[in-house]
Amino acid sequence: MLQLDSIHSYPSRIEEFPESGRGLVAAAPLPAGTAVARFEGEQRGWRDVPADAVRHAILVDGDTWVVPHSPARWINHSCAPNCTVDDGLTVWTTRPVAAGEQLTISYDRVALADWQDAPEAHFWDERWSFDCRCGAAGCVGRVDRYRVEGYEGDAEVRPGAKVRLGISAGRGRGVFATQPIAAGELIERSPVLVSPASEWPALEKTVLYNYVFEWGETEEDSGIALGYAGLFNHSFTPNARYRRRTADLLIDVTAVRAIAAGEEITMNYNGDPDDRTPVWFELK
Ligand SMILES: [Zn+2]
Repeated sequence: MLQLDSIHSYPSRIEEFPESGRGLVAAAPLPAGTAVARFEGEQRGWRDVPADAVRHAILVDGDTWVVPHSPARWINHSCAPNCTVDDGLTVWTTRPVAAGEQLTISYDRVALADWQDAPEAHFWDERWSFDCRCGAAGCVGRVDRYRVEGYEGDAEVRPGAKVRLGISAGRGRGVFATQPIAAGELIERSPVLVSPASEWPALEKTVLYNYVFEWGETEEDSGIALGYAGLFNHSFTPNARYRRRTADLLIDVTAVRAIAAGEEITMNYNGDPDDRTPVWFELK
């Protein structure tokens, strides 16, 4: 194998593979969360991307594409990738990678929030299509369109129910465990509707005022949970916590300690289980 490039400062290098052409490989054993490359290059509108760069251009937003000249250009696709690309176009490992192992990203997976924000930006150019030979158990075979994570052959959106609704003394409805739940276990996963900040003056006059989650990067939007996530009662000594998955338009509720069958499940509405900031209603 011919080493073509080592001029950049990331722990990766380009190698030539006999069957698949160039690819990027780990230059050392890497833990998860290591920056391994970055897409760098000119920004262009789609119509101005040169034909020989069509397969390498990466969408930034709207109609802004980066035509990369950095080694990231050679990162290959896998249906079970070991890397992901962030909004700043840096490539990160998502699991430990061995020295010499090829670094891969997914070309066809898109987060629900990104896809829903700009479906028109997620058109598929037929020149991008290819038969995948990644060998992963869940290989899609032909990569020929965007696939929305969590909805097309990925993890279930709703896990098996471990909870039921019940009456919480003096507080209306509450959510109760129907089985023992271990610390760290996923209890509930709720789909979320996003109400943009511009709707807040109307929304705050409605019953939803007490049920929505602060949402989005600036937390100025509102997330309306359609599952049980909005129905857990508050506690400053909670046995569960919620996590906003803004890219997936989901809220996950997980146990912060072991929970017995029949026990009411509570969470701190401030997010962090230890956050003692007063809440906006009278505690009962
Ligand atoms: Zn594949």
